[in-house]
Amino acid sequence: MFPAASFKDKRVAVFGLARSGTAMIEALRLGGAHVFAWDDSEPAVEKAKAAGLPIANLHELDFSTLDALVLSPGVPLTHPEPHWTVKKARHAKIEIIGDTEIFAREAKRAGAKTVAITGTNGKSTTTALTGHVLKAAGRDVDVGGNIGTAVFLMRQPVKDRIYVLELSSFQIDLMPGLSPDVGILTNLTPDHLDRHGSMEHYADVKARMFAQQTTGQTALCGVDDDWSHAIAEKISTGADVRRVSVLHPLEDGISAPDGILRDRRNGSEAARIDLRAMPSLKGAHNWQNACMAYGAAAALGVPVSAIEAAMKSFPGLAHRMQEVARLGSVAFINDSKATNADAAEKALSSFENIYWIAGGIAKAGGIEPLRPLFPRIARAYLIGQSAGEFAQTLNTVPHTVCRTLDYAVRLAASDSKVRPGSVVLLSPACASFDQYPNFEVRGDAFVKAVSALPGITMKHEDQTHAARP
Ligand code: ADP
Repeated sequence: MFPAASFKDKRVAVFGLARSGTAMIEALRLGGAHVFAWDDSEPAVEKAKAAGLPIANLHELDFSTLDALVLSPGVPLTHPEPHWTVKKARHAKIEIIGDTEIFAREAKRAGAKTVAITGTNGKSTTTALTGHVLKAAGRDVDVGGNIGTAVFLMRQPVKDRIYVLELSSFQIDLMPGLSPDVGILTNLTPDHLDRHGSMEHYADVKARMFAQQTTGQTALCGVDDDWSHAIAEKISTGADVRRVSVLHPLEDGISAPDGILRDRRNGSEAARIDLRAMPSLKGAHNWQNACMAYGAAAALGVPVSAIEAAMKSFPGLAHRMQEVARLGSVAFINDSKATNADAAEKALSSFENIYWIAGGIAKAGGIEPLRPLFPRIARAYLIGQSAGEFAQTLNTVPHTVCRTLDYAVRLAASDSKVRPGSVVLLSPACASFDQYPNFEVRGDAFVKAVSALPGITMKHEDQTHAARP
């Protein structure tokens, strides 16, 4: 916790008393601001009061006496309709911002650097990988934002420290001054449209990642989908624009269509890294994330050889196609985050000879879209509510209805022994709620069951708590 000094003597309303909200309140008070905190949830208000936070009923406060409204990113700014505090703030013409905006101002004042990462998919992986590469290269780095650590719970900004920040579109919407040293947009596909109204508006918000950058800064933008491609085409800020593709080679940009990262400027090659050798960066989607992390580290002056070495030692993020153990030559992969067929497709296309553990609460369409990948499945082990439905879809693909994850792990481990080099993969293509409170608990249960197998070698010491960094 450190002071938000840019709001000294200012009057600030903070709405939303979750973890990042309370950290923000403390930081503003430390910085000498007058804070008025509130939430629509009565228990949250009572809890905050008991903790000594400066509660004030914002319904009753005249917003024209304030300098700013600091909003939690979970609170609707535009859709389905602006929150009542937003309406009051607009009427009073005060700025509406988030903790990430205030953090960015503090970082700028201190001369720290920021790498900001957004996109529909791959945000957390790109953030964690960028942080890992920079740390491994000996840089002074903190990682936070949407990925876990609230920004004001990171260390206080000092000159040249690098902050790698994962930003959701809701956070970007609350950052009118966003201008990162390195801005990253991985990709754009329809998501959260309930909160953004339309794809156009969603894309507009994401495009703000680059809108205010200047010469000397870097814009890394995916070009593999129409929406992000259009954004890359429009950047004219003076920032160094680096396009990223894992579909096509680029003469000017960073590409890895065949798993070999090539950084080219006007046709001449600045770097080449074989990503196929990276244990935690399997699959084209991860090559996209790796290209982004490479681009960020290169822009910050890390030598190619150091980037390559660091990528090799990236442990991966928990529950995202993470290799957690080996039994002889069989790898055990935790991809519990795959809560729909689209995500499971990424994992199934990344491996062969798969002993696949799947099931839970299926999304509409079930595993039908995965049919082209069925030849990769040696046997499927079906758990949870969807077992019957998935068994029907699999039809002649060998499968066993196991019901519980524990049993599925034991059976898959035993069956996989006959095929050296195969994988036991938990990639459920389902929500977990029939058997577990969330995908993290499901992934931890997988790791626990795996760790109980005789002769198993776990990859990391404390796997069950291998949470997001
Ligand atoms: P986010 O933080 O944006 O939700 P993560 O890095 O946590 O993304 O990855 C979540 C899931 O999204 C992964 O398990 C994988 O299935 C998929 N994924 C990861 N990176 C990408 C990418 N670059 N493009 C498409 N899908 C991806």
